[in-house]
Amino acid sequence: SRDILRVENLSKDYPIRGGVLGRVTERIKAVKNVSFNVKKGETFSIVGESGCGKSTTGMCILRLIEATSGRVYLNEKDIFKLNKFQMKNVRSDIQIIFQDPYSSLNPKLTIRKILREPLIINGYGTKSEIDEKIISILEMVGLGAHHLDRYPHEFSGGQRQRIGIARALLLDPQLIICDEPVSALDVSIQSQLLNLLQDLQEKLDLTYVFISHDLSVVQHISDRVAVMYLGEIVEMGPSKEIFDNPKHPYTKALLSSVPKVNEQVRRIQKRIILDGDVPSPKNPPSGCTFHTRCPFAEDICTKFAPEKSNINKDHTVSCHLVENGDII
Ligand code: SF4
Ligand code: MG
Repeated sequence: SRDILRVENLSKDYPIRGGVLGRVTERIKAVKNVSFNVKKGETFSIVGESGCGKSTTGMCILRLIEATSGRVYLNEKDIFKLNKFQMKNVRSDIQIIFQDPYSSLNPKLTIRKILREPLIINGYGTKSEIDEKIISILEMVGLGAHHLDRYPHEFSGGQRQRIGIARALLLDPQLIICDEPVSALDVSIQSQLLNLLQDLQEKLDLTYVFISHDLSVVQHISDRVAVMYLGEIVEMGPSKEIFDNPKHPYTKALLSSVPKVNEQVRRIQKRIILDGDVPSPKNPPSGCTFHTRCPFAEDICTKFAPEKSNINKDHTVSCHLVENGDII
């Protein structure tokens, strides 16, 4: 199937101001040369610890923040070249679901008003056509019309996320960026919402970019997975390969901390415990930025960044040991 989204060498730097004059003294590289393609109808997951640049990547795709360099193509259209007016059309094609829908739902407005707004702005139709649309979408996410005149605080966390999903669906998007959509919820509610997202994907032919710090959340919903560390993709491949045959020490470490996959991984190799915190992106380690936490680090790792190598056509990894053909 064709690519709906193509991200090429996306980078995002943040200037850091210091001193009495508030001059830019350094730059944080939040996202470094990130490239991936997403096929129509698939779920592409981006996984990594907080601060790895996964959310920044999502925001750059939506142009909620402007990338420093790189390109993003939606249906082969270079969206970084579009002006504000042209971006308006793209905005209805790409939607986002946030971790905490509560902070993005205006507490003073009823659900009816919250859901009407995007349709009115986009000139959807008459008041009754708008209400019809809202009701049909509310039903699609498992909430009935009787909720329309209630306020956000009257709903549970899971219900609020259903409202967040409903809002994302209003303008018939093609692509939805799901940024930690279930991370704030109880495990049982998490699986209900993941099932809902999968049902909606099938029904509406949606494509998801699914951002999560938790590999166990993305395991059953992803077609492909990219693992990010300190702003870079360190491994990417079909979901099954990432879970059954992980190559990068960081991916293995993330998998080791997931109880369900733990056994499976342990059968193949030793558990890898992640030592220490993620280094500050202000002062990223030299060479392979994972070397300060990697149990396999060698001299070369502190000096040179590894190149991306192909395990097969679809599975790539950036690690010296893999590059050299050493089995780890
Ligand atoms: Fe570990 Fe070296 Fe591979 Fe980096 S390049 S992941 S430090 S073995
Ligand atoms: Mg799917």
